[in-house]
Amino acid sequence: MAIDLSQFSELQKHSKASFNNHKKMVKQMMVGKVVRCELCGQPLTLYTPEKSEHSGIRCDKGCTDVALDFC
Ligand SMILES: [Zn+2]
Repeated sequence: MAIDLSQFSELQKHSKASFNNHKKMVKQMMVGKVVRCELCGQPLTLYTPEKSEHSGIRCDKGCTDVALDFC
């Protein structure tokens, strides 16, 4: 699949911003704060690698499904 370079840098910008946003969400959840899904308003669940093979942040409905890398 060919990707337009301008599109690609747009994508990178976007993923960097959401990466920082996700890190913030993880921090909040780790201190026990409830973070809600932007779409359905359900509380998000943090899945750590110990809890789940697919670590990430997910809501019950599945509209938020963020894969995270815990390094
Ligand atoms: Zn949701």
